[in-house]
Amino acid sequence: MNDTDFGLADLPLRDDLRGQTPYGAPQLSVDAALNTNENPYPPSPQLAEEIGSAVAEAAAGLNRYPDRDALQLRADLARYLDHGLDRDQVWAANGSNEVLQQILQAFGGPGRKAMGFEPSYSMHPILARGTGTQWVPVPRTAEFAIDVEAAHSAIAVHQPSVVFLTSPNNPTGTALPLETIEEVARIAPGVVVVDEAYAEFRREGTPSALTLLPSHPRLIVTRTMSKAFALAGARLGYLAAHSATVDALQLVRLPYHLSAVTQAVAITALAHADELLGAVKRLRAERDGLVDWLRGHGFAAADSDANFVLFGRFDDRAAVFQGLLEHGVLVREVGPPQWLRVTVGTPEEMTAFRRALLDVTGRS
Ligand code: PMP
Repeated sequence: MNDTDFGLADLPLRDDLRGQTPYGAPQLSVDAALNTNENPYPPSPQLAEEIGSAVAEAAAGLNRYPDRDALQLRADLARYLDHGLDRDQVWAANGSNEVLQQILQAFGGPGRKAMGFEPSYSMHPILARGTGTQWVPVPRTAEFAIDVEAAHSAIAVHQPSVVFLTSPNNPTGTALPLETIEEVARIAPGVVVVDEAYAEFRREGTPSALTLLPSHPRLIVTRTMSKAFALAGARLGYLAAHSATVDALQLVRLPYHLSAVTQAVAITALAHADELLGAVKRLRAERDGLVDWLRGHGFAAADSDANFVLFGRFDDRAAVFQGLLEHGVLVREVGPPQWLRVTVGTPEEMTAFRRALLDVTGRS
């Protein structure tokens, strides 16, 4: 049988997966890749070497399974989070996407609902679908905030087992006030997940939901080393929650899900957190400058507490996306119609972005 005789339609694929396309932004080779919210600054050569030595050490023991409970890594993550947490309240997996999937495996599933406030991170509904959880989208306000009244009634009607609050939100950059998170945690019947993938980029005065953990035992705060830590390639995400939640996740995690190599890389990176996080301040300043510049040139720009900015508005955003790409600048066509999202890169990349945008839109 050759390839053309057999396709997806011939496989016993689940009905809810038929016609779907895999999630993922284009991975193109361009001058300025500003489309996946990566940190543009790689680890220093010294740190790369140190990570290499840690990997070599792990490699010498690869005949054995890794520490299934990732005890040292979880202790180090708890120390990094610095909210009086210990390792029993911290869990880690291959990227925060896997952490989120495990949460849905444990607390969602057939006959259960997960709720999110859109526009938001589009993997949340995809992970819900993959775990057989019904997705309930609730719209955000025109300013991309969460209307607590609307949240109240949606939660009362749907009784979701899992509620996602993304703060700072992707793709809008909006951080949620703690009062909103607290109110949702008070009324939600199940677990409330605050996806804080971009937490380190928040502006001054926007506290983390970690501060709410002691008083809200069904709250879960997820984080990642992919963004601020500049470690997207290592695939390490984690969460902080009540230790009972961490116990629950043991029931769905695959045994030895975190390889010895991943654990060694993450532990070494955490020992150099100051260096890896060193660019965060610069990226925040660059982000604030970008928002000002966009507004100063007549574009709309959403307030951002993340390392990206949602900007617009364009009658034909696809044309602007394409025009930027032709200038070697790759952004993301995501979020509400008329808007595009740009990741904050190096000053050189941002200069290329600004020039290209003015050129493509005919503004000056
Ligand atoms: N949450 C949000 C809001 C994100 O934007 C992303 C990545 N784009 C993730 C989670 C997942 O990141 P990772 O799996 O790399 O930790």
